[in-house]
Amino acid sequence: MSARLRKLRDRLPQKVNLLAVSKGQTSSSIRELAGIGQLDFGESRLQEALPKLEELNDLEFLCWHFIGHLQSNKARRIVKTFDVIHSVDSLPLAERISRVAGEERRCPQVMMQVKFREDPSKGGFEPSELKKVWPNILDLSDIKPVGLMTMAPATLPLQERKIVFQECRELADALGLFHCSMGMSGDWQQAVAAGATWVRVGSALFGNRRYD
Ligand SMILES: *Cc1c(COP(=O)(O)O)cnc(C)c1O
Repeated sequence: MSARLRKLRDRLPQKVNLLAVSKGQTSSSIRELAGIGQLDFGESRLQEALPKLEELNDLEFLCWHFIGHLQSNKARRIVKTFDVIHSVDSLPLAERISRVAGEERRCPQVMMQVKFREDPSKGGFEPSELKKVWPNILDLSDIKPVGLMTMAPATLPLQERKIVFQECRELADALGLFHCSMGMSGDWQQAVAAGATWVRVGSALFGNRRYD
């Protein structure tokens, strides 16, 4: 695992951040990577993440990112637990996160999940929809929008994924957002070429998950 991390770091440009996606992985694996300097970890299921975070709560310097589908009734717990949320996919959800964040006296960094191609298996704003509600999102006082997140459909050839990632970069630039969270184990190179600032890598770093 540590060899995979070093190799990946060597291949990533300095300015691209690596999010280690630890869903389906044990807290001891997370601890091992933290021991060699990986500080950002991504989880996609609250129920799975909570006990792991508890086991790792001595590692106060870790930064936890939520990357999964976010159910509205779990927003408060997610706001209290995670530092960055990559998967805000509707205006009502953004409003709810901002409201509970205010009540909890937090102000999470958030990214809007956008869907650039038809994909029934994934959520996300349509680009036109996001542009329309953007002023409303900017009005929310207790979230800090920092970027966009996207996933390319699993069936899309790599060459075309790069185009999807370029569209994401362009929309982020148009909205004045610095971060693009895009690219996973199979397509992070295409995402980096298109201007990703975060890549989210799970299996290529940890090996296979306990589920999939
Ligand atoms: C699981 C997951 C990843 C990582 O996937 P790998 O193919 O294992 O690298 C990245 N982003 C999201 C949103 C995920 O759910």
